[in-house]
Amino acid sequence: MSNVTVCVRFRPLSSKEKRDLGDNICIQSMDSETFIIKDEKEEGFTFSFDKVFYEESNQADVYEFLVLPIVRDTVNSINGTIITYGQTGAGKTYSMEGPNILESDEKKKGILPRVVDGLFACIKTSADSTKYTVKLSMVEIYMEKVRDLFDLSKDNIQIKESKTQGIVLSGATEISLSDTAEALQSLSSGIANRAIGETQMNMASSRSHCVYMFTLNQESISEKRVKSGKLILVDLAGSEKVEKTGAEGRVLEEAKTINKSLSALGNVINALTCGSPAKANHIPYRDSKLTRMLQDALGGNSRTALLCCCSPSPSNASESLSTLRFGARAKHIKTSPLVIKVSEEKCSKKNGDASGTRDESFEKILEKMSERLNDEDIKLLEELFIQAGLFVDPDSEEDLESAIQDVVQQTISSLMKAVEELRSTVEMLQRENNAMKGRLAVAERCDALPGKNADFLQKIFGFLSSFIPGM
Ligand code: ADP
Ligand code: MG
Repeated sequence: MSNVTVCVRFRPLSSKEKRDLGDNICIQSMDSETFIIKDEKEEGFTFSFDKVFYEESNQADVYEFLVLPIVRDTVNSINGTIITYGQTGAGKTYSMEGPNILESDEKKKGILPRVVDGLFACIKTSADSTKYTVKLSMVEIYMEKVRDLFDLSKDNIQIKESKTQGIVLSGATEISLSDTAEALQSLSSGIANRAIGETQMNMASSRSHCVYMFTLNQESISEKRVKSGKLILVDLAGSEKVEKTGAEGRVLEEAKTINKSLSALGNVINALTCGSPAKANHIPYRDSKLTRMLQDALGGNSRTALLCCCSPSPSNASESLSTLRFGARAKHIKTSPLVIKVSEEKCSKKNGDASGTRDESFEKILEKMSERLNDEDIKLLEELFIQAGLFVDPDSEEDLESAIQDVVQQTISSLMKAVEELRSTVEMLQRENNAMKGRLAVAERCDALPGKNADFLQKIFGFLSSFIPGM
């Protein structure tokens, strides 16, 4: 069991903050882990984290301490998650992307381009007998809808849970990346799509959560096994309170929904840190798309790091305090990451298109199932969910439907596996059948030959057929 790594980053004062309050800051550094922050009433609060990055810290410091160990884990098939949290303007996107995702200045490059460099560097130094594939999906969660940033027509991506792969974005486009340059181009096109969405929907990126999902598959040629590591990076929406933004009407509704998913995140963290370890308490992952997507990261099967971004200005002290309290709480979550083996066979599915049709079949099966279910079946299903380790709130229709989907998905995967096994058995039987026919034909021809010759030929045939299959 390890804790979530929680770091704090204070950005330099903005020109507006400097204009308003000069060089005043509300932070007093104690050391690289501890500082005191003063609120509006000049009351001081001491906080300690795994590391504090003060105003003068650079992008490489953040990457090396917080991100690089997780990148190395991903290459070893341990899932990782990196989340940036904080009020709008606190430096989340700057930390994640840098001033620009295609920024070539080595000093200014953000976490994402460094992750890409790190992944490909680790791959280069690994054994020749291992074949790697790197894939990237990019989605945005806005108003509780998950939108594919590589294909804007997919604006309601479903989040599913698979036994082997954990939480998956069903049908989301996955782009294969062969090198750093290609990865940066893909990231840049996803980010540009986010900007298109913003103008069409009059939406600022600060009001949506952006999720970058890298999947690294390793195929060991000698062991005939595929292992997989997932690295998820999340640039969260601004955590500020609604009243401060002066939002009205639709914008207010929007802000409430965003705050709803962030407060769901807070609730999940509370449930994870408050419950007694002996008794598994209900963790409300299904209360928002964000918490559902981060279920693996928060619920144990991932190495997770949180970067709390703050302004050092006294004018933002109360928001910074609430960010720091969130980080302090998250510090108590315990995780126990596992190595994920995808399968003994090579996964042949390409991009997201195939799962689009599978999704449709899930929907159809679900529809049929819900028509036929009676009270007895529902009780049995509940038992099944408990056996499968799925938490379900029986009063929540959405919770129940989502759990049914999980079970249906698991059943379909085992049926598909069984069909696959059956197909290879049939193929093997056909091969044997052809071989028998061949032998029979030769034996008949030999029988037609006179005496000694026939015996001799049959011996030769028997000898050869032990070496040549199908004879
Ligand atoms: P957020 O994503 O949290 O809303 P941004 O990352 O967009 O905030 O940062 C707001 C502004 O502050 C941007 O102009 C950004 O360039 C600047 N900024 C943030 N962090 C830093 C930093 N560490 N060093 C220099 N400038 C920064
Ligand atoms: Mg941002």
